[in-house]
Amino acid sequence: MAEETIFSKIIRKEIPANIVYQDELVTAFRDISPQAPTHILIIPNKIIPTVNDVTSEDEVTLGRLFTVAAKLAEQEGIAQDGYRLIVNCNKHGGQEVYHLHMHLVGGEPLGKMLAK
Ligand code: 5GP
Repeated sequence: MAEETIFSKIIRKEIPANIVYQDELVTAFRDISPQAPTHILIIPNKIIPTVNDVTSEDEVTLGRLFTVAAKLAEQEGIAQDGYRLIVNCNKHGGQEVYHLHMHLVGGEPLGKMLAK
C-alpha cells in the first residue's frame, strides 16, 4: 500500500489549498511556492508515488491530467503563449512529494528547459 503524503490531505480537503479543479479522478491546486505567475499542480486522486509506479490501469487517470492541464491553461489565459508541463521522478528528477503530480507552469517566458 502506497504511503500518503500531504497531497492526500489536500484531496480530502483536510488542509487548506487553493483547489482550482477536482473530479473523480484528479485534483488541481495552486502550488504553495509558485515558480511562475501560473503554477498549478494536477494530481491523481489515487496515490501513485512516482512515474515508476504507473501501470496500464492508470492510463485513463493520467490522460485526465493532460485534458485538465489544457483546460486550466485556457482558463489561466496562457494557452496561446504557451506553458510547460513537468513531472519529476525520484532524486535526480528533483521530486519532493511522492504522490505523482504534473506541474502546469506559465505566464511568462520560462527560459531553457533544464537549469543545472
Ligand atoms: P516536486 O519537486 O515533488 O515535483 O514538487 C512538489 C511541489 O509541491 C513543489 O513545487 C512544492 O512547492 C509543492 N508543495 C509542497 N507542499 C505543498 C503544500 O502543502 N501545498 C501546496 N499547494 N503545494 C505544496
